[in-house]
Amino acid sequence: MPLEVKYCRKCVESNQRFIVSVPHDDKIAAFKDTIVFDEEGVCSACRYFEYKRTVDWKERERELIDLLARHKRKDGYYDILVPGSGGKDSRYTAHLLKYKYGMNPLTVTWAPHMYTDVGWRNFESWMLTGQDNVLFTPNQLTHRKLTRFAFENLLHPFQPFAIGQYNLAPRIALEKDIQLIMFGDFVPETGTGSADIKFDTCKMDSRLFCRTSSQDLFLGGVRVDDLPRHGITRSDLLPYMPLEGDKFLESGVESHFLPYYLNYDPQKMYYFAVENTGFEANSERTEGTYTKYQSLDDKIDGFHHYTWYIKTGRGRATQDAALECRNGHITRDEAVALVRRFDGEFPTRYFQDFLNYVDLTESAFWKIIDSFRPDHLWTKVNGEWKLKHQVS
Ligand SMILES: [Zn+2]
Repeated sequence: MPLEVKYCRKCVESNQRFIVSVPHDDKIAAFKDTIVFDEEGVCSACRYFEYKRTVDWKERERELIDLLARHKRKDGYYDILVPGSGGKDSRYTAHLLKYKYGMNPLTVTWAPHMYTDVGWRNFESWMLTGQDNVLFTPNQLTHRKLTRFAFENLLHPFQPFAIGQYNLAPRIALEKDIQLIMFGDFVPETGTGSADIKFDTCKMDSRLFCRTSSQDLFLGGVRVDDLPRHGITRSDLLPYMPLEGDKFLESGVESHFLPYYLNYDPQKMYYFAVENTGFEANSERTEGTYTKYQSLDDKIDGFHHYTWYIKTGRGRATQDAALECRNGHITRDEAVALVRRFDGEFPTRYFQDFLNYVDLTESAFWKIIDSFRPDHLWTKVNGEWKLKHQVS
């Protein structure tokens, strides 16, 4: 991570933000790529949003229609896979593909660690919109152990979930012979981390769910070959193993992002999902931020954002406010105020659930958290941890 902390001059993003990495490569103390800032102090995500304003969206929609026409089946079988949880993005994607573009989607879901009440209601109501779904629930003994490893070794308790989620749709596409996968969500910072971030990518990077034959695999920071020593067998690991890259390429399955084809705005997706699919936002504000509608189906979600905040000094409110800034819903000053008020708020609501899930005591939890605070970001003042830098 860059030792000098900087904040984007257009939004509130920090230069400490990691970008997506290949999860089955993540080792303990591995180098992480961070978001790129240009010479004017503007982050690559803001530049991407500027670029989006120059895109001919009518032309993009024509590209989408062509893509769908190439894959549309006449025999009534599923012709497109939509991965998702039943949150606003996957609902929007599946709904549009089925009712506007006449496709026959199969939706697929990797189950959350622990459904929240509103998350489960949303999952059920999603099927009421006329979608078929395959729900995959991993073996909870293995999933809990891997989540614990990922928390202890990487301070990334969400990693096993993310790995499973990346692998599931391509695996089912191969099994069920469905040639097209459409992802509804898109993080523009996804890229290779250097100057060659691709603004214009329509396809998911297959390195996220494929492996090469010589690649060493890691899960929760532990080498996969060492996991049997921890009581996790090769069969237990089946859902987490990336696909063989050559086989996937040969299959011809394509995985695309809907936000490449249609102008994506999370707030608009939210209103669409409420009006057209009965999506339910939370009755309470999500801890650590000011919104009520972003990723609310998993009790562990707050710990994903909180651990990220510990490692980078920027949390869930930064993420939400930066995005709303880029979409023009709030000003940078408003975003700064929201970050200073909500970022890093501890997710108390499901703390005991999290401790039970990973089988840790509260003191062991804090010991692990504190061991991951980078020196250039954190300092102890009168016995309390404080960030050295804050956005202004
Ligand atoms: Zn920015």
